[in-house]
Amino acid sequence: MLSLSQLETRVRELVNAWARNRLSPEEMLANLDQVFIELGIAGPGRPAVVEQIYLGAQEQFSWLTSRIVEPLVQRGLAETLRAVGNGFARMGGRIREDVSRLVSLSITQELSRNDIANRLESTLSLARHHATTVAQTGVAAFDRIGNLSQALESGMREARYVGPIAERIFCEKLMAQSKRGKWWTIEEILAMDNGQGTTPLYDCGGHWCRHGWEFRYGRR
Ligand SMILES: [Zn+2]
Repeated sequence: MLSLSQLETRVRELVNAWARNRLSPEEMLANLDQVFIELGIAGPGRPAVVEQIYLGAQEQFSWLTSRIVEPLVQRGLAETLRAVGNGFARMGGRIREDVSRLVSLSITQELSRNDIANRLESTLSLARHHATTVAQTGVAAFDRIGNLSQALESGMREARYVGPIAERIFCEKLMAQSKRGKWWTIEEILAMDNGQGTTPLYDCGGHWCRHGWEFRYGRR
């Protein structure tokens, strides 16, 4: 026979595992009832301390599941932040190169002050354009990750490709297949290659891509 504190520890361990394995609240409750039935302490008339453990387990489960971030969502956030960081770093590198080239040209007096000002202005305008691209691409990815997170939470596991008329071959192919009724599992999407070195589940076609995934529950 388990002592009360052993019972509490055991139940807490089980609840932890159930939350990690992403059981639904209904599955969790069924499992919890089963445990109490096996221990012979199910149903009415059981001591208040046991009832407390039973209710505590449900609270613990909902607390845990509200805090577990899907690994796929976590990975998407990390990848997107890294891509944005790298994009800005590359931009910084390009500005530094341009400026140091200007410095040597000005030392050898091959450029007038006006020329230098013009070249600086065009370097900055290119950088602004580049920064906007990086930021827009990042924001689009964060939107998709938000959708993905909601879909995963509600148990959706399939998606099709949606959005405006495609410009890239990658997007064009997926749009055409989706229009013909094709849906992909998340595993199939993860195996796709958009040729940009990024993950199509988060990034679709890559820079400036306006496409996205529309999720559904699917057959499984
Ligand atoms: Zn696209």
